[in-house]
Amino acid sequence: MPVAAAPPSARAERPGRGRILVVEDEQKVAAAVREGLQSEGYDVTVETTGETAFFRINTERFELILLDLGLPGQDGLDILRVMREAGVATPVLVLTARDTVGDRVQGLNSGADDYLVKPFAFAELLARIQAVLRRGRTAEPQRLAIGDLEIEAAARTVTRGGKAVDLTVKEFELLVYLTRHARHVVSRDTLVREVWRETAASTTLNNIIDVHVSRLRRKIDREGSVKLIHTVRGVGFVVREEEP
Ligand code: CA
Repeated sequence: MPVAAAPPSARAERPGRGRILVVEDEQKVAAAVREGLQSEGYDVTVETTGETAFFRINTERFELILLDLGLPGQDGLDILRVMREAGVATPVLVLTARDTVGDRVQGLNSGADDYLVKPFAFAELLARIQAVLRRGRTAEPQRLAIGDLEIEAAARTVTRGGKAVDLTVKEFELLVYLTRHARHVVSRDTLVREVWRETAASTTLNNIIDVHVSRLRRKIDREGSVKLIHTVRGVGFVVREEEP
């Protein structure tokens, strides 16, 4: 039986071991975690408030988010809940103080991938991070391609004609879904359910989907390239190479 190994080129474009967002308001903890993770080869970004963290989560892609629950302003649980509702699937490892473990960790439900009680040893943090990243990678589809469009799902990178395309989290998920179902028409209702993870379609949601599709199209189907993202009037969308 062949052994399923990660493609050797998967991380070739990015020499580091992945991007980690650290959301932590205690400067000393944040600095120590950043230093430790950087020395392990991770690309680390630190945010100290819920608001700035939330903005970053919505505009950039990370392989993992390290989330302190006790933050000034919008706290960690709020961020986690809202980002999951918005369909952001990035693995989250929660950091929490000992006295808040009981109820709050119960309340995490499926929102967090794992949690760690403060204070923690760096070696323990690193082991948890590696475990969460491993789980995330095996659960995700590996590599998708159509024409000269390539998607590395685990690394969350997209290239068209060998050039990197920068997508938001939602655009990425949309593209992955459409590409995974390439040559099959995907209805808006399906996108509502599978990408937006909402139970019912609405006019507003349909408009949001249309806006995302046109943004995605502008980034993927640049002038001069073969059109990949097509609208099927009254039905939905399909990713396929244009017939010559
Ligand atoms: Ca804190």
